[in-house]
Amino acid sequence: MTTKLPIVEEPASSLRSDGSRNYVHPADVSGRFTRIRNVVFTVLIAIYVLLPFVKVGGHPAVFIDIVNRRFYLFGGVFNAQDFWLVFFLLSGVGLTLLIMTAVKGRLWCGYACPHTVFLEGVFRRVERWIEGPRAQRLRRNAAGLSFDKLWRKVLKHSLYIVLALALSHVFISYFVSLPSVLDMVQRNPAEHPTAFTWVTVMSGILYFNFSWFREQLCLIVCPYGRLQSAMTDSDTMVIGYDWNRGEPRGKASNSENGDCVDCKRCVVVCPTGIDIRNGLQMECVGCAACVDACDEIMNKVGRPEGLVRYDSLNGLEGKPKHFGRPRLFFYGGIATLWLIGSVFAFAQSSAFEANVLRHTGAPFFVADGQVRNSMRIHLINKTGEKQTFLIEPESESGIEYIIPQKRIELESLGSTYLPVLAVIPADQMRPGVKVQVKISMEGRDGRKSSRLVEAPFVGPGS
Ligand code: SF4
Ligand code: SF4
Repeated sequence: MTTKLPIVEEPASSLRSDGSRNYVHPADVSGRFTRIRNVVFTVLIAIYVLLPFVKVGGHPAVFIDIVNRRFYLFGGVFNAQDFWLVFFLLSGVGLTLLIMTAVKGRLWCGYACPHTVFLEGVFRRVERWIEGPRAQRLRRNAAGLSFDKLWRKVLKHSLYIVLALALSHVFISYFVSLPSVLDMVQRNPAEHPTAFTWVTVMSGILYFNFSWFREQLCLIVCPYGRLQSAMTDSDTMVIGYDWNRGEPRGKASNSENGDCVDCKRCVVVCPTGIDIRNGLQMECVGCAACVDACDEIMNKVGRPEGLVRYDSLNGLEGKPKHFGRPRLFFYGGIATLWLIGSVFAFAQSSAFEANVLRHTGAPFFVADGQVRNSMRIHLINKTGEKQTFLIEPESESGIEYIIPQKRIELESLGSTYLPVLAVIPADQMRPGVKVQVKISMEGRDGRKSSRLVEAPFVGPGS
């Protein structure tokens, strides 16, 4: 039998009828998805925190060196000229999220978003550890001020502030080198006011978010939740309540009732305070707490698990499910174009940058029957290591070159300007003649990679 799921209109879960905040106190839950989430949170917290500390190729695994305008990514080194490649990186992340959302719904929100990871994996754990389970927290919050309430609140918020400070220092380590951060921590804030302001503001935002704002970030700030209705369809995996199986809800002892015993356990564990039985809602962050909670109840009342489960809307309504849908083919087409574009873009990116530039002032001068162009080569080592470069003129065009320095060593991401004087007899001057110089980088393994750089040679009548 198939039944269309009902649409239940209710005010936003975190608002009271008078418009004030309905603070959500989710109950503890255990089960297979909670265990999976805990493992994922632990791994991701380790990754988020350790990335600036772990070194790959002598540099932090991920480091956006703002001062020197460099970007280190898992051993790759990029400078300001490579910034355009960030477009491919960011669009790749966006596309992955788009396709993953179309197929698997809000897995990102429930398992991997840093907000969820740190809220559920760190801050809520601290709260439970100090203030106890939901029932105790609600009772203590409703009661008047007491010593017991005071010390727990003070301890909780003190730890929150310490955690916010620690996280903001980790965050800034993605942009300022770790030795600099450690050095600044030990010095007077007046000596590094910019970094100090950043860390202070960041700590304040993190403390505000994780101590009070919490699910409101997902509900009213993050655009991803609002976009999900445009990215998903009736075959996308969501977390839903099997209305056909569950209704009419009521006591398990009444054989007329469906499987839902109306215990509201799925509601009290929800971190955004919604009732999943009202159907798919924007507020659902896909955490699966209600799945574990309901499975626990189904086991207690001797009914099969899965009354609340991962399924598509079609699956929940008892309709056939489809994997191949026009939207996925469309997204797949965009992803293929992105892949081709990215391979092409990264293939264009070379280990060094070299350009022939003209000196400022007169473009040429004529003396002793010769036309002379004074140039300079701008050379940038874009690798993560010191490299040796050879500068060799190409003499096919009849130009003679004076290059004072034909071999140079450059540090990682170092750059330099090398003077080049190009000379041609005035009677051989003709339009289209070019200054051409071959730049070779000697690899550690002895292999060379070379590029020919050129610029027009200018003279009288050219
Ligand atoms: S409805 Fe369920 S999956 Fe959605 S946020 Fe609430 S507990 Fe998590
Ligand atoms: S936990 Fe399951 S049985 Fe209890 S109210 Fe929710 S859907 Fe019904």
